[in-house]
Amino acid sequence: MKLWAMKLCDLLGPRFALRTFCMLASLTAVMPSAYSHPAQASASAQPQTATTKTAATPTPSPTRADILLGGYGPYRANNDLLYYHLDVRVDPEKKFISGKNTIRFRMLKDDTRIQIDLHPSLNVDKILLGTDSLKYDREFSAVFIDFPRTIEKGHIYTIVFYYSGTPLELGWDRGDKKSLGGGIGFNKDASGHDWINTVCEGVGSSTWWPSKDQWRDEAENMDISVAIPNSLVDVSNGKFQGKTDLGDGFTRWDWHVHYPINNYDVSLNIGNYAHFSDRLGDLRLDFYVLPENIDKAKNQFAQVKGMLEAYQHYLGEYPFKKDGYKLIEAPMTGMEHQSAVTYGNHFENGYLGRDWTGVGISPKFDFIIVHESAHEWFGNAITAADHSDMWIHEAWATYLESLYVEYWWGKADGIKYVNGYKPKVKNDLPIVAERGVNATPPVDQYFKGVLFINTLRSIVNDDDRWWKLLHDFYQHFKYKNIMTEDVVAYFNQQAGMDLTPIFNQYLRRTAIPTLELKFDVPAGTVAYRWKVDEPGFAMPVRVGRRNSWQVIEATTEWRLMNTPLKKDEFEVATDLYYVDVVKQ
Ligand SMILES: [Zn+2]
Repeated sequence: MKLWAMKLCDLLGPRFALRTFCMLASLTAVMPSAYSHPAQASASAQPQTATTKTAATPTPSPTRADILLGGYGPYRANNDLLYYHLDVRVDPEKKFISGKNTIRFRMLKDDTRIQIDLHPSLNVDKILLGTDSLKYDREFSAVFIDFPRTIEKGHIYTIVFYYSGTPLELGWDRGDKKSLGGGIGFNKDASGHDWINTVCEGVGSSTWWPSKDQWRDEAENMDISVAIPNSLVDVSNGKFQGKTDLGDGFTRWDWHVHYPINNYDVSLNIGNYAHFSDRLGDLRLDFYVLPENIDKAKNQFAQVKGMLEAYQHYLGEYPFKKDGYKLIEAPMTGMEHQSAVTYGNHFENGYLGRDWTGVGISPKFDFIIVHESAHEWFGNAITAADHSDMWIHEAWATYLESLYVEYWWGKADGIKYVNGYKPKVKNDLPIVAERGVNATPPVDQYFKGVLFINTLRSIVNDDDRWWKLLHDFYQHFKYKNIMTEDVVAYFNQQAGMDLTPIFNQYLRRTAIPTLELKFDVPAGTVAYRWKVDEPGFAMPVRVGRRNSWQVIEATTEWRLMNTPLKKDEFEVATDLYYVDVVKQ
């Protein structure tokens, strides 16, 4: 059965569009120009360290709801999450969810109020501190919880948040078609069994459970308990702890997450799943698919080992070893739920059967296995602290695809694969979006992002150094929530050069650098300079003849070099540097 294997991004309104899960399919669609904001003054307190350029298309001002969800307001910033125990009952027949989340946090200052989030479609039943029932105010998805007395800096508190209701299936239904949008979807598989899955990056975890629904702060570990009808299986994140027959037709499935986890990564996958397992060394691999697909899955999921081997080679050990690696069939194309990756690529290579990058390499592997699993390193282990900086997930996961290609088929194919992304780049909006308003960056965060990282490799111009830099970058920030400034500072320090203007031009401006060349054939010279927006921009680039490139240190000022080459013989290594070239 083919469900929702369609473009994802033309769903919903501008601000909800593309609040996606990896949103891979969006690439074929027309992007709504309004969903991303120019990086103007932010509603949050985060510094905007670099210059920005206003996007060509006017964009709406963020709403109060956007700011409440996307900002890191005072009642979020006054505490540090430690632990969740999400304990719910899911009734497929009534499309109803009920239960509680036990939330433990440390206060970072004295205060009497905190913010937890729950979508207005769900009821708050009660919120307890010990046996005391706490008062609260609701505003859009925010639930402001008031304490009867000051809760003190440095102290740890535990509240239990009870809720129930029929969650809004944001974007799951669109007329007679099914499509992805976010939240929780109550559906049936082709044989009529219930099939219930969550996907909520962008729209937020608060669409289906009460949580501190933002990117900056993560619970350090988590328990997930899910009661469902006896005939079904629940696969959530973390390590399976066991199941308990509750004696009322429902069975509770218990999972424990040993690591920090993004709110949007927390997932339920409830269905008539068949299970098989494998190992890679001492890492447990578990696979859950619909029974009719088990043979296809055993064949296709054999690729998981090669994927893990490649990523572990470049970056280091799989980051969630105690939780194991799981791949779970779901009706959406894919989502990087931590240690429980959802999969819907029809057990075929490429992306939904297509040659994704159009250069003959994508058909060699299953794009969803390779891309979504890459997020275990970039997205889940390293997480952006604001939705605006999501390129830290998507550009890097896309770059890991090319590393997978390079590891198995060599550097030339890796570079070819990266360059296959060029036709998908739009160069119409900056990659880093507005902060503090839950803004989703444009698709250039994937494609321009990967071409930029490939450019960085060429600037470093020493593969041994590049591999060390990449490995150390990941190791330095794993299990942390970071911003673009952290990435830039680390690369500047480790590479020993000021790369800030280069990062800014690619991430915070719309145009890519143009190398201007002026030939003086009689004199045997060529003048060169960069045409860019970013002050102080300087970037080396390889020019001349392929196989005997010459590196020039180009800046925004004209410089002169000698060359025996004529204008049409003189090349620029545009497969190694994502730049335009203008010859005069
Ligand atoms: Zn992704």
